[in-house]
Amino acid sequence: MVGRNVRGAAERLEELHAPIRVCPRCRLCQTRTHAVPGIGTSRAEVVFVGEGPGRTEDREGRPFVGRAGQFLDEMLAAIGLRRGDVYITNIVKCRPTAGDPPYGNRAPRPDEISACAPWLEAQLAAIRPRLVCALGRVPTGYFLPGAKLSKVRGRLQHRGDLPVLPLFHPAVALYRQDKRAVLMSDFRKIVRILDDLRKRDR
Ligand code: SF4
Repeated sequence: MVGRNVRGAAERLEELHAPIRVCPRCRLCQTRTHAVPGIGTSRAEVVFVGEGPGRTEDREGRPFVGRAGQFLDEMLAAIGLRRGDVYITNIVKCRPTAGDPPYGNRAPRPDEISACAPWLEAQLAAIRPRLVCALGRVPTGYFLPGAKLSKVRGRLQHRGDLPVLPLFHPAVALYRQDKRAVLMSDFRKIVRILDDLRKRDR
């Protein structure tokens, strides 16, 4: 099991943000407005990992600031948490874009995910969360290679000793009422899972 927070985690996490903002490791640096390192506390028990920044996140340099972000905030509130209690980031820190200007969103490509993975792993190493929530297909595939989101969604998995809970991405739930209810139901499981993990780590 990944241990709990240690002194200096905040500094280590903060120190990662500056190089991420100027990272040249993949092609996404050429089309970004802002890299989006992540937001939240180094003392987070839970880290939420989405796919990548969208248009609004790219403009503002913060993750989950659009309607999907509002829904994420609602779900956090429903289980007694605020953004300041958790850490929120993405698999890739710069917006994957497709087509001609004004550019639409697309899923990150495998080489972009590989290039960006050391940043995510360094963030997880600094925070050492009890639980990672993988929001959607791409983060689920990253943490649990070969797993299908439809098969593992809402059920606690592990990558080595790191507990991982795969969930729908909040953006999907915005236009699918059935998935919204499922996501809310899965989200409520976080409370019990964290309780169980705390007991195990005592
Ligand atoms: S997506 Fe990641 S690896 Fe690519 S330029 Fe941005 S920070 Fe660097």
